[in-house]
Amino acid sequence: MAPIVTFGELLVDFVPTVAGLSLSDAPAFKKAPGGAPANVAVGVCRLGGIAAFIGKVGKDEFGQMLVDVLKEEGVNVRGVRFDPNARTALAFVTLRTDGEREFMFYRNPSADMLMVQAELDMDLIRGARIFHFGSISLISEPSRSTHLAALKLAKESGALLSYDPNLRLPLWPSPEAARDRIMSIWREADIIKVSDEEVKFLTNGGDEKLDEVIMSLYHQAPNLKLFLVTDGPDGCRYYTPDFKGQVESYPVETVDTTGAGDAFVAGLLNKLVQDKSLLTDEAALRSALQFACACGAITTTGRGAIPSLPVVDDVLKLINNVAV
Ligand code: ATP
Repeated sequence: MAPIVTFGELLVDFVPTVAGLSLSDAPAFKKAPGGAPANVAVGVCRLGGIAAFIGKVGKDEFGQMLVDVLKEEGVNVRGVRFDPNARTALAFVTLRTDGEREFMFYRNPSADMLMVQAELDMDLIRGARIFHFGSISLISEPSRSTHLAALKLAKESGALLSYDPNLRLPLWPSPEAARDRIMSIWREADIIKVSDEEVKFLTNGGDEKLDEVIMSLYHQAPNLKLFLVTDGPDGCRYYTPDFKGQVESYPVETVDTTGAGDAFVAGLLNKLVQDKSLLTDEAALRSALQFACACGAITTTGRGAIPSLPVVDDVLKLINNVAV
């Protein structure tokens, strides 16, 4: 069994070979495995941890390719299902010159949206010490009910619930629907990671100071053990019931930010599964977050998420170089 289990979407990202052009001007696209929860599972395995992924792809060549990639990376894929009647999800990505991205999705509906409760690998969920998920599977039925059932089982089985909403606005019927659904499971989570942009979106982009809106979100999850707000090159802020603070990231030459947040989560969860005390010990938490920030930073130095996820040696090299 795997101590870290991630649940959600696994898809093919088509990434342009040249950055800074619109989708119509891009000369060619390279296929890359994508889907935030799947990236996190791979990120954990790269760092030497043990992770499983639960989700659904089409019974087609893209679906098989994705599952093969996860397997090669050491991810336990016994919880992956193949749908004979639906295609694997695809996303075309525009890469701006500053490394930021926009997405155009092909899901009508794709296999990931069609996973039903009966397809859940209950034993895998029962064995999880950390259950990590996003919000894309909350968009429509039947994946929404499946997601909620998986959460309930993980919680009843004693897993820590880790939530990174990973807002993808074009997938939602409206911004209001995205906000409502993302917040609908907010109270369930033990750990939440959002970006500063997601904070602004979820709090409706008010004029209050960032710290104030972060606190308003934090207080909407009464059982939250750790709330993290990442801010690209500026690192992250952390909030727990006992302490709060900020950890800086590491300077790197950024090429593509894809997967930085997933690498950050993988780094943190990998530390957390080894040492639960970091939820209550600030020094241990800061050290884990430095590690997580370095994981995120390294991932921005290459194209695509999975190819750029670091191994432990890369992370230690970056941390130690800066510390010297
Ligand atoms: P994404 O959705 O692109 O995967 P995200 O928006 O969830 O990412 P970010 O805040 O972009 O998350 O990045 C996560 C972490 O990765 C940051 O907290 C930071 O530590 C590191 N990071 C990201 N971008 C950079 C960068 N350009 N330079 C250094 N570190 C970075």
